[in-house]
Amino acid sequence: MKAIAVLPGRPGSVHLTRLGKPSVDSIPGGRGVLVKVLRVGVDGTDKEINAAEYGAAPDGFDFLVVGHESFGQVEAVGADVTELKPGDYVVATVRRPGSSIYDQIGTYDMTTDDTYYERGINLRHGYLTEYYADAPEYIVKVPQGLKDVGVLLEPLTVVEKGITQAYEIQRRLKVWRPRRAAVMGAGTIGLLATLALRLRGLEVTTFALDPKPNLNAELIEAVGARYETTREVPLPQAVERDGKYDLIFEATGFSPIVFESMQLLAKNGVLVLSSVTGGDRMLEVPADKINLDFVLGNKVMVGTVNANREYFETGVRDMAQAESEYPGWLKRLLTHPVKGLENYRELFDKLTNTRGAIKVFCEVAEIPG
Ligand code: BGC
Ligand code: ZN
Repeated sequence: MKAIAVLPGRPGSVHLTRLGKPSVDSIPGGRGVLVKVLRVGVDGTDKEINAAEYGAAPDGFDFLVVGHESFGQVEAVGADVTELKPGDYVVATVRRPGSSIYDQIGTYDMTTDDTYYERGINLRHGYLTEYYADAPEYIVKVPQGLKDVGVLLEPLTVVEKGITQAYEIQRRLKVWRPRRAAVMGAGTIGLLATLALRLRGLEVTTFALDPKPNLNAELIEAVGARYETTREVPLPQAVERDGKYDLIFEATGFSPIVFESMQLLAKNGVLVLSSVTGGDRMLEVPADKINLDFVLGNKVMVGTVNANREYFETGVRDMAQAESEYPGWLKRLLTHPVKGLENYRELFDKLTNTRGAIKVFCEVAEIPG
């Protein structure tokens, strides 16, 4: 079967390759689930992997099959699989357990191991291929009614984990009642964070660079959030006007914004960091002032990397709620489809060169009507 792969360490090496088709027996103990891949989204991580800034091949291979944002349909299950059946629509998780105690209790996203395993990213093949097999522990069922937007589940889990962690941490306050939130960045993650915070009843301001009108701003406003461009209203000015934020979700991919965000946090507030920044940028910051405000205001900052099964399940529930509160909104994020694995060049070209693309994805096979 066809697969899209890179040669880790070699920039621009994305190519079409062949892999043997897996079967339910590829997984031991009768626990195999064979999934036909229907759609796979691509993101900044894939861009970095193809630029050889990130990613490693599995043992015994010189290539890595990419693609970690999957959506597919179960084709067959092993004798000991009761959780799923042929015909079910599914999304697979990305991380696989290592050996730390966090891995052992199923929170492999919290691993303390130096080596981590991620399908399509690090040491495990991904989903930009025709079929994959895995154990049901790593495969999450998506209701039929969400099949057209299911490919957005994996990016949504980045947001779900960040927000869940924020609420979990804030239980320290006994009576935390967040009212105002800010989202930094209006890319795919920023949009989904805005949605998830609106679904939880917060007042949300989303900060971005591009002036209105643009699609991202329209989408932000369609869920009742405010879109603010920092080119017109710089962050300190916005916060002076509106007050500070109880929760800030950072998703710009630009690390200096982290230190600006620290200065916009209200007393007892929580700042969630989700940008994977591979560079080595240096920055001068008002260290005393930032530190003093954090100490006197009991503030928290937390980093979050994706994701275990729990957040995929939360994501499915939020998608269903989104379809009922803002029907058709999720689908508008699917801006750039590319048909067929053989058009991998077009896929990566759109990913790298389209300004304003919200979600570039490969239609590997047709979703059954
Ligand atoms: C993926 C996550 C992954 C992270 C770090 C992101 O693009 O969506 O699943 O944990 O990269 O590799
Ligand atoms: Zn990703």
